[in-house]
Amino acid sequence: MNNFKEKLRIVPDFPVPGILFYDLLPAISERGTFNEVIEQLYELYKDYPVTKVVGIDARGLIFGAPLACKFNAGFIPARKANKLPGKTIIEIYSKEYGEDHLAIQEDLIKPEDNVLIVDDVIATGGTAVAAEKLVSNYTKNIRHLFLLELSELNGLSKLSHEYKTLISV
Ligand code: AMP
Repeated sequence: MNNFKEKLRIVPDFPVPGILFYDLLPAISERGTFNEVIEQLYELYKDYPVTKVVGIDARGLIFGAPLACKFNAGFIPARKANKLPGKTIIEIYSKEYGEDHLAIQEDLIKPEDNVLIVDDVIATGGTAVAAEKLVSNYTKNIRHLFLLELSELNGLSKLSHEYKTLISV
C-alpha cells in the first residue's frame, strides 16, 4: 500500500499543547487497510525466526497481536503500570509527552527466544528503549518494528538492537 502515509491524521496539540500527534487509527478502520498494513509489517521481518512478539501499550498491542499470529509466535503485552497481575518487572522512562511506566510479566521470555518488539510510532525513543531494557533481562535476541518513525526526533539512534520501520515522516 503506497498511500498509507496520506491516510494518517495529524492532530495538533494532542494529547498536550505543542505535540503533533500522528493518528493511525482512522486509517486502519478502513476495510482491507489493517490487513494490508499487518502484511507489510510481517514482510519486513519474515526472514527472522520470531518466537515472541512484545506489543507496547496501547497501540503497539493493536499491531503486535495480529503480527504474533502471522509469525506463529507467542504474544506478550508490555503494559502501563498496575495493569498486569502477578509478578512484573517495570521500567520508568520519558517519552515525547511526559513520564511513563512500562511493565511485563516475569519469566515469559527465555534466553533462546527471538523477540520482536512492536509499537506504532517511535518519537524520542524513550518507550522503545524501556521495552528493550525489559526484554534484555531475559534474552539478547531482540528486534524492533515500528509502523511510523518521526525522524526529526531521532529516536532510532537510541536503540541498542536492530530495527525496521514501515514509514518515516
Ligand atoms: P517516544 O517514547 O517518545 O518514542 O514515544 C513513543 C510512544 O508514544 C509510542 O507508543 C507512540 O504511540 C506515542 N507517541 C509519541 N509521540 C507521538 C506522536 N507525535 N504521535 C503519535 N504517537 C506518539
